[in-house]
Amino acid sequence: MTEADKLLLLRDFNSPDPESIEGLLEKLPADAKVADILFRYDVTPDGGMLNRHVRPFIYCAHCEGARHWRGFVIELEGGAVALVGEDCGGKQFGAKFRLVESDFYADKGRQDDLHRLIAIRALIPAFEEEMEMLRRSAVMGAFDAYMRGLRSFGRLRQAMEENARSNDSVLTCLAYDRDHAAEAAYAETLPEAKHHREKIEGAQTDYIRRTRMEEYRRWIDTLPHVEREKVETFGRFSGGAIFGLAPGDNLVESMRKARQLGGVRADEFMCNRSDYWDSRNITQGIAKLREAVRTVRRSLAMLNALDHFTAADNLATIAKWSQREVELPQPRIDYSVKAVGRTLIDEEDRHRLALPHTWAVPALPHTAALLAALGD
Ligand SMILES: [Zn+2]
Repeated sequence: MTEADKLLLLRDFNSPDPESIEGLLEKLPADAKVADILFRYDVTPDGGMLNRHVRPFIYCAHCEGARHWRGFVIELEGGAVALVGEDCGGKQFGAKFRLVESDFYADKGRQDDLHRLIAIRALIPAFEEEMEMLRRSAVMGAFDAYMRGLRSFGRLRQAMEENARSNDSVLTCLAYDRDHAAEAAYAETLPEAKHHREKIEGAQTDYIRRTRMEEYRRWIDTLPHVEREKVETFGRFSGGAIFGLAPGDNLVESMRKARQLGGVRADEFMCNRSDYWDSRNITQGIAKLREAVRTVRRSLAMLNALDHFTAADNLATIAKWSQREVELPQPRIDYSVKAVGRTLIDEEDRHRLALPHTWAVPALPHTAALLAALGD
């Protein structure tokens, strides 16, 4: 912190009780010149004008009466002090007042920036510790190993990814049902139908009648089948976000990059003096640090997604879907899977996939707090 910024941090810009200031002028001299704004004030009661009885207006030296809730404590050249309403300084002093006002708000904005900077700096060391802990954690490698293991399950991985991307993680099977009513209706439009009907009606015994009915049904069966597409739904599976990692990418590597980038951005905040942080650098620095912290959060989100994906009930849903899918004329997977607790097993018991017993997704409370402070 520079000395000027330390002083600025000590300054109060708001006066909660401006009328208590001593030596306030009742009226402004005709030749009064504004030198500075000392404070602003805003004593508007909750509810505003509806609650005007709660809080009387504050005296204004320009209006020479109690007229406003919002205004400024101003200092005149020569050192005298007075209160003016929010818009009355401009009416009294014109452009000169607007210059003083914009300096006042620039200082106030600078103080806000410094407070923000201090808050962010305070959160960075704990964030860096969390980031390093996550990078070193065995869960990162366990994630990559699980994703590699999923490839042993043939096209299952691909089918799940498609469901996650384009079907909102809803597991569906596309079956085809014959529409017997539609087939019979079509048959009735053909001349042979009349012939069959006459034969059925002319049957002398029940036995012959049944035989002819059967002939009629077999004939319908030789006609083109009418099929209706039928979507069977097996619920939604969780954790589809694990398929969001780019092909060929892995979590260990992406976390290594995130750690590197996060470290660089954190250093920028920890190592630069306050005079480096003009409002442009603050805006850009915050945006860059936010992006770096988000990449750490994305890694964490991947771990959480895998945690949900491998939940016993989730794997059971996937297994149920897969068992139906392989029955279809054109299944999207090579073979079905079973779920035993949190272990995924292919139907012939050749591959078993589960997370290690030590698997536990860490919590990163400081990373979340820093993201909030960065305005995520
Ligand atoms: Zn006024």
